[in-house]
Amino acid sequence: MPTARAPADDRKAPPETPGPAPLRAAAVKLSGPARAMHKLGLRRDIDLALHLPMRYVDETRLRPIANLRDGDTAQVQGVVQECRIETRSRRQLVVRLADDSGELLLRLLHFYPSHQKTLAVGQTVRARGEVRGGFLGREMVHPEFRAVTAETPLPQALTPVYPSSAQLPQTYLRKAVASALARAPLHELLPPGTVPPGLPPLRDALQLLHQPPRDLDPETLEDHHHPAWQRLKFDELLAQQLSQAQAQAARATLSAPVLRAVPRGLAARLRAALPFQLTAAQQRVVAEITADIGRAQPMHRLLQGDVGSGKTVVAALAAAVTMGAGWQCALMAPTEILAEQHFRKLVGWLEPLGITTAWLTGSRKGRARQAMVAQVASGEAKLVVGTHAVIQDDVVFARLGLAIVDEQHRFGVAQRLALRAKLGAHADDGAIPDAPSNEDRGLEPHLLMMSATPIPRTLAMSYYADLDVSTIDELPPGRTPIVTKVFADGKRDAVIARIRGEVLLGRQVYWVCPLVEESEHIDLQNATATHAELSAALPGTVVGLLHGRMKSAEKAAVMALFTAGEMKLLVATTVIEVGVDVPNASLMVIEHAERFGLAQLHQLRGRVGRGAVASVCVLLYSGPLSATGKARLKAMVETHDGFEIARRDLDIRGPGEFMGARQSGDALLRFADLAEDSALLQQARAVAPRLLREHPAVAAAHVQRWLASRAEFLKA
Ligand code: ADP
Ligand code: MG
Repeated sequence: MPTARAPADDRKAPPETPGPAPLRAAAVKLSGPARAMHKLGLRRDIDLALHLPMRYVDETRLRPIANLRDGDTAQVQGVVQECRIETRSRRQLVVRLADDSGELLLRLLHFYPSHQKTLAVGQTVRARGEVRGGFLGREMVHPEFRAVTAETPLPQALTPVYPSSAQLPQTYLRKAVASALARAPLHELLPPGTVPPGLPPLRDALQLLHQPPRDLDPETLEDHHHPAWQRLKFDELLAQQLSQAQAQAARATLSAPVLRAVPRGLAARLRAALPFQLTAAQQRVVAEITADIGRAQPMHRLLQGDVGSGKTVVAALAAAVTMGAGWQCALMAPTEILAEQHFRKLVGWLEPLGITTAWLTGSRKGRARQAMVAQVASGEAKLVVGTHAVIQDDVVFARLGLAIVDEQHRFGVAQRLALRAKLGAHADDGAIPDAPSNEDRGLEPHLLMMSATPIPRTLAMSYYADLDVSTIDELPPGRTPIVTKVFADGKRDAVIARIRGEVLLGRQVYWVCPLVEESEHIDLQNATATHAELSAALPGTVVGLLHGRMKSAEKAAVMALFTAGEMKLLVATTVIEVGVDVPNASLMVIEHAERFGLAQLHQLRGRVGRGAVASVCVLLYSGPLSATGKARLKAMVETHDGFEIARRDLDIRGPGEFMGARQSGDALLRFADLAEDSALLQQARAVAPRLLREHPAVAAAHVQRWLASRAEFLKA
């Protein structure tokens, strides 16, 4: 194993760290680098074996000094002729190194006495770095170097460079990986015929990637197309497919209440009372959902439909079937504003039909909350609407039949896990022997998730493989398409004139600002200042302000004024992003549009164009735009189709960010790239069911090898 030493790293690394022992228990006191390794999740041998190099350096050959050209990165070996400390400009160690062909200067700006010792006159030294044609001839600044003898062999493999942290020197990590690779149980698990032809066994693949032979061009490895890489990606995708299939199979063994609509029952009465006809797409998804909840296995379905496609009424109908069958329904929304809007809408539809609805949010506390919780526990409240306060510990449902999660992608991974746990807890909750929920012990509620951000096909086939999907692919009739325009911030006055025009016509306007008082250093026009500016520019117009730091009662009051049409212009941060429904709003202005994600822009734009009037969305930007910023704004102008938007979003951002995985700090796929590796994904999808059927133990072992520490995330 070569040990290239970067002098800058030596400060942190103890010169002779003992080789890392296998870490059995976290309680063992770890050295600095071992702790850093633990923090990076490199705990088991297999974790280290799967920690792959980002790139490689070639230390397998030496170049004669005389052949070096300015800009080359090269390794040389020579004898130190002179080693002196210079103090003229900046204090530095200057070393003159000579081989048979010529001389080279090494310059070290940070150095320690140990370096001077290594570089003492007469020492043979191997150095690697970038060559510069300096004033005094060729030189290397801050090369990696080490003392050798004329007989020290050159490494036979390329030297890997691993993703690491400041506390974890490459030398330490290389040793740790090499010894873990030798120990890790990497025997072939997959039976013949499962691995796509041409891909090497896993052990060979890893061996090659950690220690590539010197004649291999590192570039063929670095672009991740090499068969060794393909093998890893395939194994990873297969593990993901298997774990999804396992989750699906596990769910099929659970029982759920059978919820069937009765003739002239609640659902039929709701349908008859609606002020509009369902679209064909709405009828189709209602049929899909009612078929699911009419079965004794828990539904696990995603309802996706573009903004404004009418998902709420579909949810209401599913809720009506549930309640008509004598069970409770919970509807959870990511924000209080949205939850409140659902609450009003559903109460408006269902209260005339005799349904009692409970309202639970974080801001409802004390007595009021206790009363609601009691209604939920007694079963008096048939419908429970709220934010994630709905799944707090003290909320116990008498008979929860259906849980609906709106805008499910807005909930974090942790909240989705909590919901899962809550639903599961309901099933085997024996803690309150006399609670009515006990009689239903063993039954899981059905789960319906809703999202306006459609899942691209590749993601649907991978992360969401165990999810059934219903799609509303049609908007209610009578909508006029939204025209989207992009303006530089300099056109602000023209935009304000346009607002005046809309208000005169009796229409309403949103103005969205990205952040509120987030940081004094960031040059953002905050919502408060914009509110003042617009109020001054539009005398006689009621201008409201809505932002995340307001109390929820204040927010509700502002929303009520806007919904009632009394407030004409609403300046808001992204709190209005999801679900808000005011059909009279016809103009949406988004300031600093370049700072929003594409899905977010599409959601915001969806707040207008909800009525019959032609609507406009204005995207204001402050230049210069980045390439991705430009691509996003262009996509917004070019398409209104949520599916197309999602596809482009995936192109621009990549699936990791799409999933919100960035936020959770844990990318779900480490090696495979869904956009690039769809062929491998297809192969993994084909193999997974067969493996589960014919070799269940192998399937379990494979999942264990790959996903042991990630299983929680994949379940979400
Ligand atoms: P989203 O899918 O974005 O949640 P909503 O459920 O908020 O959409 O519906 C958007 C608007 O369209 C609401 O005002 C809703 O009452 C109305 N709507 C829903 N379905 C229909 C329909 N079939 N015909 C006419 N209007 C409808
Ligand atoms: Mg909605």
